[in-house]
Amino acid sequence: MIFEQIDAGGDRNFSYLIGDEATRTCAVVDPGYDTSKLEQRVKALGLRVTHVLNTHTHHDHVAGNGVFHKQGVTLAAHRDAKVNPDVALEHGSVMTIGKQRIQVLFTPGHYLDSICLLVNGQKLITGDTLFVGCIGGSGFRGSSTEQQFHSLYKVILALDDAVEVYPGHHYGPTPSSTIGHERAHNPFLQRPNYADFTWLKEHWEEYKAEHGIA
Ligand SMILES: [Zn+2]
Repeated sequence: MIFEQIDAGGDRNFSYLIGDEATRTCAVVDPGYDTSKLEQRVKALGLRVTHVLNTHTHHDHVAGNGVFHKQGVTLAAHRDAKVNPDVALEHGSVMTIGKQRIQVLFTPGHYLDSICLLVNGQKLITGDTLFVGCIGGSGFRGSSTEQQFHSLYKVILALDDAVEVYPGHHYGPTPSSTIGHERAHNPFLQRPNYADFTWLKEHWEEYKAEHGIA
């Protein structure tokens, strides 16, 4: 597997490249405002992009779709996504890039069409559902704090500790993490119940100051 985390400009956005050595094909995930580094890596690795995937349809994660889509690349996103995907994904959908297997987990909350992408059962691209040490916001139209709680505690935390976490933004102390590390250290994944989860969301700035979190 070829797997790269790539700076996409914007608000410390990350794009991802998932490639297959044998077929020299790849998928790009969340092309953002700046696709130049992503395009450079595709070229440098000698790959052909066959798919664009979106973790959700907030503008900073889909802004670069057109750069690839106009080359005839297949656009895949959740079936409720407003980007008119060529392939409509849902929980359990599987996409293959050569021998690489990308499994879709439906994780609404941050946004109504949020999905996470589990690559070869090893690497989880989380979009804005889960960041290193933090989670995505849920205080705007199309968000649901209740769904986010369910997605995090029932879907994300059901994964194996060894699964690596690759977020949609570089907001944490490190660019990537693991489910085990987040389970042990991410304050949002340690709430005993929904009420406590919403309390932390509302008091996050105070909590950070109290606990010396940057
Ligand atoms: Zn977002």
